[in-house]
Amino acid sequence: MDAVPELPEVESIRLTLERSIAGQAIHVARVLRTDIIGAPGMLRAGRGRPAPRHADTSLRAALLDGARVSSIARRGKQLAIVADDARALVIHLGMSGRLVVGPRDAANLPSHTHAVWHVGSSCTLRFTDPRRFGALVPCAGAHELDAHWSGLGPDAMEIDDESLAHALASRRTSVKAALLDQSLIAGLGNIYVDEILHRADIHPLMRSRRAAAHSRTIAERMREVLDAAIAAGGSTLRDYVDATGNPGAYVTLHRVYGRAGQPCDRCRSTIRSAVVAGRTTAFCPVCQTRTRPVVHPL
Ligand SMILES: [Zn+2]
Repeated sequence: MDAVPELPEVESIRLTLERSIAGQAIHVARVLRTDIIGAPGMLRAGRGRPAPRHADTSLRAALLDGARVSSIARRGKQLAIVADDARALVIHLGMSGRLVVGPRDAANLPSHTHAVWHVGSSCTLRFTDPRRFGALVPCAGAHELDAHWSGLGPDAMEIDDESLAHALASRRTSVKAALLDQSLIAGLGNIYVDEILHRADIHPLMRSRRAAAHSRTIAERMREVLDAAIAAGGSTLRDYVDATGNPGAYVTLHRVYGRAGQPCDRCRSTIRSAVVAGRTTAFCPVCQTRTRPVVHPL
């Protein structure tokens, strides 16, 4: 349940797509489900919300048929394929969404493939999503893309110490809940919040307003953890693969996530697990109860 793509995994996919489809012409080859297509502003498609009824031509246009890809943008955990005519297609990966670029030879599409594009003369881009919490959201131009992303806080890779302090001070929740709140700061999920808080010596149940005093340390650890995970090609356990089908390698670098019952790398105390902000949370009961964070090398 926790192996949901977070900022580093999504950034790894973005980098792969930049290399493989930027500058290329794309054409919609197949749309197998329309209930994964959402309207700008919505957070999720499907699941009880009707898909917009596009005529086939307008559906294809909305999915960037005939566009030349100018760039791949990212905000938090969302991606957008941006065309050189300013159309954009936001991709929410949800829990199990995948974007995979491959050769155009697949006679049999993998199950749960919802849309397929031809890229250039020899490749395909496929969107698959077995659990269908993901979505494709067409945006007619930059203004619609900006509006769609206006509900997200600053990206976790870009937020500065002062903005993080303001964000944390604005919440009465635990620091863990605040860091998971995409409207406050975009990109973090259960795995990286736990890893960041461990490295910052902050207990996940510390009040967000109190943690604001440690925002500089949290911001530094956040950038270190995310940088390392991006450099390692994304993370996440079990079934994570990047946009070329390769699994990430960062799992071995996790210090608390998935390690409950094992010794803390730093103090050898047993890593504990508890439910915080509705999520299974791993933390060191010794390192993360100090009131004043100290600096540790990664
Ligand atoms: Zn410890």
